Order: sequence, then C-alpha cells, then structure tokens
Amino acid sequence: MRIDLHTHSTVSDGTDTPAEVMAAAREAGLDAVALTDHDTTLGWPAAADAAQEHRLLLIPGMEISCIHAGVSIHLLSYLHDPQDEALLRRLRRARTSRDTRARRMVDALAVDLPIRWDDVAARVHAGATIGRPHIADALVEAGIVADRGEAFARYLHSRSGYYAAYEAINVMEAVRLVRAAGGVPVMAHPFAAARGPIVDEEVIEQMARAGLAGLEAHHRDHDRRQEQRALAAADGLGLFVTGSSDYHGSGKPNRLGERMTKPEVLEEILAQGRGSAPMGFRR
Ligand code: AMP
Ligand code: FE
Ligand code: FE
Ligand code: ZN
Repeated sequence: MRIDLHTHSTVSDGTDTPAEVMAAAREAGLDAVALTDHDTTLGWPAAADAAQEHRLLLIPGMEISCIHAGVSIHLLSYLHDPQDEALLRRLRRARTSRDTRARRMVDALAVDLPIRWDDVAARVHAGATIGRPHIADALVEAGIVADRGEAFARYLHSRSGYYAAYEAINVMEAVRLVRAAGGVPVMAHPFAAARGPIVDEEVIEQMARAGLAGLEAHHRDHDRRQEQRALAAADGLGLFVTGSSDYHGSGKPNRLGERMTKPEVLEEILAQGRGSAPMGFRR
C-alpha cells in the first residue's frame, strides 16, 4: 500500500485544485492520500469526490501553522471534526491575521519592486488560505524572480526586511484543540532546521503530554541525521512516525509518494481519529 499523508492544493498554497491533487495521486500510484492544506478544510468535499472517482482512500486533514516561544511549528491534523467550534474560531483568527500580514509584506515590497496587491490577490483562489507562496507567484508573474524558491531566497524568508509575522496558534493549544475535535495531531518535519529555528526534544515531550500522536520523520527537508533524530525522539516518547511528500503541485519540487507512511501507521491514525471519517474508496 502506497500512502502519502501531506499534500497541498489551491485551497492553500498548492498549484493543483483538490481534484487535481487526487488525480495526480492516482497517477503516482498511491492508494491513500491526505489533503492537508494550511489552516483550512475547504478542499475536503471536492477531494472526496475525486478520490471516489480515482478509487483512492482520502484521509481528510489540515496543516496548522503554530508557534512555540517564537519558533514556527507546523502541526498536521487528521480526521478532526471540520465543524468543531473551538478549533474553527482559532483558525479564523489566524487566517484573518494571514490576510493582514500578506498586505503588509506586499506594501513593503511595493516600495522597491513593481508589484501590487491586486497581482497577489489575483493568485489566491476564493476562500483559500493566503501565504507567502502567493506573493512569490506574483513576483514570478512580474518577471522579478524565476520561481518560488528564488522569491523566498531573495525576498520572502523570515529574516528578510520585507517579512512580517502572522498570529500563529500556540502549539500546545493546537494539539489540545485537535484532540478535542477528534483529530490525530502529528508534528510536521520536526527537525527541518533549513526552514528556520526548530524546537528540541523537551518541547516535543511537552507536546506529547498534550496529546501529540506522531512525528513526520520522513520528509525531504530532513537530512539523514535529522530523520534519525526524529525516529529516536518518536521511539523515546511512544509516538508513531509518518513519511510524506508535502506536495505543492508545481510550486515546489516535492513529488507525490517520494516519502511514504507504513500501512500499520495509517491503521493507527484511522483507529485514533474520531472527528470525521476517511473518504473516497478503500481497497
Ligand atoms: P507562510 O505560510 O505564508 O509563512 O509561507 C510558508 C509556506 O511557504 C510553506 O508552507 C511552503 O509551502 C512555502 N515555502 C517556504 N519556503 C519555500 C521555498 N523555498 N520554495 C517554495 N515554497 C516555499
Ligand atoms: Fe505550504
Ligand atoms: Fe509544513
Ligand atoms: Zn505542508
């Protein structure tokens, strides 16, 4: 069984629609795939229809932008209740602050570069979670950079003068909210130091006490040592490990199925998830 539990669509910063992600997943020979857009579940219904059509098992998910002591942490949630009020309220606040933050970054960039807010807004699908990749795409469109990677390296990275922060959710609160919504919380790429500052095992232990279920050990942003470190941390804390692509369509080089999750771990996620049911087709 080929299982990839981390993908993004146009509902956040991926370039494929939810249905196109499912078609691409089938094309990549996957049997089960999770749609994990940033801070939203808007893509679930369309993905479910396409998963059914392509005879794929869809694990409905989300990637929540969190923070701990100034360090950004991504928390994957699987099978939570998409209507859970407490979680929704908190996500709404974060998404509103993402809008404000994107405008601030574009205002700052517009002082030095030929880019306008409308160029960025035009790249964001209706209702989607806005992020720096949308600004990157506008910079590409304007011919200022060649691709998203160059946009991040030159203008959008977190130490850039154009960078602005948004109001991410405290990670311990997020773990509890996900569990309370019947979801299964998994820490995404825990030791991906190239992305920016990371937290250590002590913080992960605290997350485990709050209800964390697993660590995404296998991810292209981990080198061998970071992958081993994640495996050791999971082992010590009794957490399961996942592996996934973090597919963003043409927005990133990540290919579907380049890292995968073991079937017994998927079974564990399905056993723990109580907020919503898996969708699509179970072979
Ligand atoms: P934001 O959520 O607005 O803080 O932006 C973070 C998102 O930008 C991540 O989810 C990635 O998808 C994307 N990203 C970060 N670095 C890069 C990069 N070098 N190339 C392409 N996308 C990136
Ligand atoms: Fe992303
Ligand atoms: Fe992430
Ligand atoms: Zn992701």
